[in-house]
Amino acid sequence: MSEECTHDCSSCSADCSSRDKQDFREALNPASSVKKVIGVVSGKGGVGKSMVTSMLSVLMQRKGHNTAILDADITGPSIPKAFGINTKAYADNRGLIPVPSKTGIDIMSINLLLDNETDPVVWRGPVIGGTVKQFWTDVIWEDVDFMFVDMPPGTGDVPLTVFQSLPVDGIVIVTSPQELVSMIVTKAVNMAKLMNIPIIGIVENMSYFECDSCSKRHYIYGESHIDEVAAANGIDTIAAIPMDRKLSSATDAGLIELFEGPWLDELATKIENL
Ligand code: ADP
Repeated sequence: MSEECTHDCSSCSADCSSRDKQDFREALNPASSVKKVIGVVSGKGGVGKSMVTSMLSVLMQRKGHNTAILDADITGPSIPKAFGINTKAYADNRGLIPVPSKTGIDIMSINLLLDNETDPVVWRGPVIGGTVKQFWTDVIWEDVDFMFVDMPPGTGDVPLTVFQSLPVDGIVIVTSPQELVSMIVTKAVNMAKLMNIPIIGIVENMSYFECDSCSKRHYIYGESHIDEVAAANGIDTIAAIPMDRKLSSATDAGLIELFEGPWLDELATKIENL
């Protein structure tokens, strides 16, 4: 037992012998069915985690699977905007109903519940964690084959709540080239290992810039380190997404469902075969 033990195993990941072996998993709403849950994580914000969550969801939906996104990034929700959703979610006597995107991806995000999407969420950690849990327990996730959870960045309280409360089948780690040379990615990897959650793959976003006229790749942040980091952590599936104005324009215009590009195809196939 740690010297700082608070006797509250729900907020601690230490694997000590006196650990309460209680299962913290939350039950789904009786009207829901979710086959696979994939967490999309990053060491810090702004590296493209929501972009990758959106793109992977679009790819799975294109493959014919019923796909959903649980936006657990409560303080920085960007999923509704990327999909151009302006309507609000509503509830019936069974629970909260997610809002479908144009191609039918079911989405739940705090921005679909706030009166004004620019309202800040100034809540304490446990309240944010409780909201994420409710997104799992109180939303009617009907017949979902693949649910992507856009996790809050970092390795703090809310990611811990998600890992403990939801049956996460695997995670995808999103990084930027700069992050790869720091220890931030390794922290995310180690957290997944600590929680016994398989790492499906790692995505280096904004990896390079490809010139429109000569197609030469420019590695703006220097040569990529993704292979080394993946090898050091036993991760066999890696993907690199270029910095591409078409991608940022698509999310800004709410048209991410129209994106085209092969970068995440291998990862999507691996998720399909989970
Ligand atoms: P995070 O979820 O990690 O905070 P986002 O997915 O919201 O990051 O991305 C941050 C910003 O960077 C967004 O405006 C997004 O459109 C842009 N962006 C992300 N990836 C790319 C990319 N590969 N090319 C161009 N813009 C990108």
